Amino acid sequence: MPAYTLKQASDLLAQKQISAVELAQEYLSAIAAQNPALNAYITVDAERTLAEARAADARIAEGRAHALTGVPIAYKDIFCHTGWRSACSSKMLDNFVAPYTATVVQNLVDAGMVTLGRANMDEFAMGSTNETSFYGATRNPWDTNHVPGGSSGGSAAVVAARLAPAALGSDTGGSIRQPASHCGITGIKPTYGVVSRFGMVAYASSFDQAGPMAQTAEDCALLLNTMASFDERDSTSLERAVEDYTRDLQQPLKGLKVGLPKEYFGSGNSADVQAALQASIDLLKAQGAEMVEVSLPQTELSIPAYYVLASAEASTNLSRYDGVRYGHRAAQFGDLEEMYSNTRAEGFGSEVKRRIMIGTYVLSHGYYDAYYLKAQKLRRLVANDFQAALAQCDVILAPTAPTAAPKLNELNNDPVQAYLSDIYTIAVNLAGLPALALPAGFSAQGLPVGVQLIGNYFAEAKILGVAHQMQLNSDWHTRAPA
Ligand code: GLN
Repeated sequence: MPAYTLKQASDLLAQKQISAVELAQEYLSAIAAQNPALNAYITVDAERTLAEARAADARIAEGRAHALTGVPIAYKDIFCHTGWRSACSSKMLDNFVAPYTATVVQNLVDAGMVTLGRANMDEFAMGSTNETSFYGATRNPWDTNHVPGGSSGGSAAVVAARLAPAALGSDTGGSIRQPASHCGITGIKPTYGVVSRFGMVAYASSFDQAGPMAQTAEDCALLLNTMASFDERDSTSLERAVEDYTRDLQQPLKGLKVGLPKEYFGSGNSADVQAALQASIDLLKAQGAEMVEVSLPQTELSIPAYYVLASAEASTNLSRYDGVRYGHRAAQFGDLEEMYSNTRAEGFGSEVKRRIMIGTYVLSHGYYDAYYLKAQKLRRLVANDFQAALAQCDVILAPTAPTAAPKLNELNNDPVQAYLSDIYTIAVNLAGLPALALPAGFSAQGLPVGVQLIGNYFAEAKILGVAHQMQLNSDWHTRAPA
């Protein structure tokens, strides 16, 4: 099993101790052996991967290498990537081969990273368990009776199973952080607008952000350095000076003020999660950080606000799948109207349909003010809470999810219970803040448990630095499933 971190793979390539082709081959063999039990990759194309690896080796030989040249990576199926089926794990896009590439992917391709394949996900990124995928559920590599979390469950699983040193995910309401926590890896959702959304299939555009998932915070920082860029093809992309997200990695934690939101440490958490939080507090204190109690009183409102707003945006975004331009089209229909409805009835799974119906309802005349507008106001209140809390501390420490990974089928007939399990992640997306999840312990059953660090706008480097210092002094992130 190739267990390299992204940094180790990059160093081995730079020192010419391994070639990009050898590295790709190691991962391709591990994928062939282990993926059938996990269903974490849904598309692999060994020929293409090896061609990219040969090109990377040539670039290294010519002395034109970037630090990431030749390092393999997996992409969540949500990113358009020229020549790859980019299905967003939906029947609707099962036949869609992207004619262009998402900017975040293109930035990594330009650096010479080698594509290992496409990672499974919840259909259109709607879900928390990876079970809504048209291609079937992904299994948690720590225990295949459990889910890996979602929606970037495939991305988290391939990194945890060491079937890729890193992966890209996307986070609309927690989809990077929650699966990272459930699989024992690290992942960061950047401040809204820091990474381009161009070419990333839209779910809820005012929330969606791509982000790196890897074993360590250091690896995430290296990836974010290359992923982030201003993009005029994304109207919400921020035009900012280039940042070095590794700049705070060596920053000691002495005097760091860590906010503990009192509403997040209650009886809603499992004992495993409470233990992981306590272990993180102890680790931070041992390095000289100070804990301060803060309050995020509107947290409970974030669930209804998010599911109104995200569904409203989803219903609008998904209206483009009409069977006319691309994607699935029903074989049987009488007139145009029936072509639309049969296509959408066949192409979307039940969770996606549920979101479209909720979204259409809350946007309809007569309900818009009662639901959509109200939810927008709640969104502001939630964001204000964070500003008040972050005025008292440098970063916030919080659980990522109330429990470790649920069992397969445990949540998939209970959408409300699934929505409630997003309580700790979605407030961050409502506010547009950056947040990072990192491994912080194991449950009594041996499943990983993660915690998250939430920073103020543009505090990516800071939270990556705090996480790196925690990882220098702990070993949860180095453990891999048997
Ligand atoms: N679980 C949340 C949802 O289903 C978040 C998903 C995501 O972040 N893409 O909407």
